[in-house]
Amino acid sequence: MSAVQGGNPRDHDDRAGTLPRVPAEQTGWVAGPAQAGEPILSLRGIEVHFPIRFGILDSLLRRTRGVVRAVDGIDLELRAGEVLGLVGESGSGKTTTGRVIVKLTRQTSGTITFEGKDASALWGVRRLRDYRRRVQIIFQDPYETLNPKQTIGEFVAEPLEVNGIGSAEGRRERVRSALESAGLRPASDFASRYPHELSGGQRQRVVIAGALVMDPHVIVADEPVSMLDVSIRTELLRLMLDLRAERGLTYLFITHDLSLAWVIADRIAVMYLGKIMEIGPAEQVIRSPHNPYTQALVSVSPTPEPPTPGQRAKRTILVGETPDAAHVPPGCRFHPRCPYAFDRCRVEEPPLFDVGAGQRAACWLAEGGRALPVLPPRSPAVVAAVAAGSAATVEPG
Ligand code: SF4
Repeated sequence: MSAVQGGNPRDHDDRAGTLPRVPAEQTGWVAGPAQAGEPILSLRGIEVHFPIRFGILDSLLRRTRGVVRAVDGIDLELRAGEVLGLVGESGSGKTTTGRVIVKLTRQTSGTITFEGKDASALWGVRRLRDYRRRVQIIFQDPYETLNPKQTIGEFVAEPLEVNGIGSAEGRRERVRSALESAGLRPASDFASRYPHELSGGQRQRVVIAGALVMDPHVIVADEPVSMLDVSIRTELLRLMLDLRAERGLTYLFITHDLSLAWVIADRIAVMYLGKIMEIGPAEQVIRSPHNPYTQALVSVSPTPEPPTPGQRAKRTILVGETPDAAHVPPGCRFHPRCPYAFDRCRVEEPPLFDVGAGQRAACWLAEGGRALPVLPPRSPAVVAAVAAGSAATVEPG
């Protein structure tokens, strides 16, 4: 599947950059663009709970054996023109959150507001057309996203055709413009090629063009560079930032890699087991984390210089595996792995406390804006294992 395909052809505002305008059409759902820095998309109290059922009988009787709490009550706000990095391990709920935003997954509860309009109950192909045109997604794997039997031009044009946007000539022009904006020049050459004729980086550029052709305002980028070589990653990240500057795009950048989020994001939100553990300006979150989980991620994230043995020894070691979302621990869900955990953590879940400068952290130790205390020294055996690189540290995956 390509970027989410849907949308309503209508003139709307001046964000489209070089893409030609398309004729107006009413769908009954019209939102207005947000000004830079204003909230463009907000999630409030979003939960995504999947029932656990065993076998056909459970399905027929709609009998549930438990619930997977993939997303467990989050508030998140995207501001127009920003890159919000959503960081977390595998199973943290970050991808599900992205899918809720583009309406590929239905929330169990909570509200979605986009450009000032309530989009929570917006379902059905026709009613979602306009929304999906404005809110696109780029998936991780360009190899899976592209259809090997389609030319690049056909792939990029498909959402326009599906939604009846523009004349044949107008569509060709939009495809050309989108391909060139994604750095695939000359567009006419790339449009006639097939995916197997392109490199991995070029394929991901095609996927980006497939999103751009719909003239979106928000792009959910789900691990968009994680399958690419490091050198190509940089080019793609630069392209995304250039497109933001040219078109006023807003990104939710989903990644397991905190250092990548640091490079590209204006703000960072850290997720763990379906909850936001910390959110704030990227520099602030990285340099002064107020949640022990964020602190652990920061301590094992790559830095430009190789860490010294002393720095390696300061890595925060988290004990144990992430619990699965069907068995969320009571109290603070991070407490079984938290080196700071105390009695209150085991029974009461902390809210996000304001710790200043736009940063908030879900930790009882951050109540009142306090900084994290310094951990007691680890045992010599653990320090030696970390210095040798053989200890289990937090490995986002
Ligand atoms: Fe750790 Fe307690 Fe803070 Fe949770 S609330 S992160 S267990 S110190």
